[in-house]
Amino acid sequence: MRGLPLEVSNLSVTGAGGRVLVRAESLTIAPGESIGIRGPSGAGKSTLLYALAGLQPTARGVIRWGAADLVALGESERARFRRDHIGLVFQDFLLFEELTAQGNAALAAAFGARGGAASIRSRAGAVLERLGIGDTARTVDSFSGGERQRVAIARALANDPAIILADEPTASLDRDTADRMIDDLVDLARTGGKTLIAVSHDRTLLERMDRLVEVIDGRLREGALDA
Ligand code: ADP
Ligand code: MG
Repeated sequence: MRGLPLEVSNLSVTGAGGRVLVRAESLTIAPGESIGIRGPSGAGKSTLLYALAGLQPTARGVIRWGAADLVALGESERARFRRDHIGLVFQDFLLFEELTAQGNAALAAAFGARGGAASIRSRAGAVLERLGIGDTARTVDSFSGGERQRVAIARALANDPAIILADEPTASLDRDTADRMIDDLVDLARTGGKTLIAVSHDRTLLERMDRLVEVIDGRLREGALDA
């Protein structure tokens, strides 16, 4: 699926005790655009990314992907939207150690996702192959950090989502592995016309994005890379 337009307005996400963690008056992202999100540690980048995935129940305001406002949807509709439209790459991968690379990448097949189990399994296998994971039948407990990150990306893409959200996808990788991963992620998003939103401190990644958003103390502003 190709990207969906995003319209965020009057967004606030609150944490324990009602403290406002993120506030955004407006953020518009075109379908297929790639956005880098950066900012100091603790500024609210992950909180924002998870809100855009419908994973922040305290989000108020409007988070509209196409026709769907995640804030207005009920919990189960939000989960269905996420399953059908969003591929998430978490910072710490969140793989199942006892499953194989293929089993992790095709996890959505077990949840009745849009498109059906067979096509998810076959796309998961294809992305793993493209990312250079040959031994897809090995359990991931013996995989390196870079290999795990690739499996996590294959899982995020297996359901052919319109939207890819990634939280510091290169943070645990060495430079060479990170560079290859960035190329792969950007290429997969570009060729598929997918919207890509990546939280990162990695200049190599940020340089490849169409646009930057800076999060400072829970507030958003348009960013630019220094010369
Ligand atoms: P970043 O990803 O930019 O490092 P986070 O979005 O993880 O920052 O966190 C932003 C702020 O929100 C931090 O002060 C963090 O401690 C706080 N925070 C994150 N999640 C919660 C939560 N569930 N409840 C309360 N505070 C939270
Ligand atoms: Mg974070």
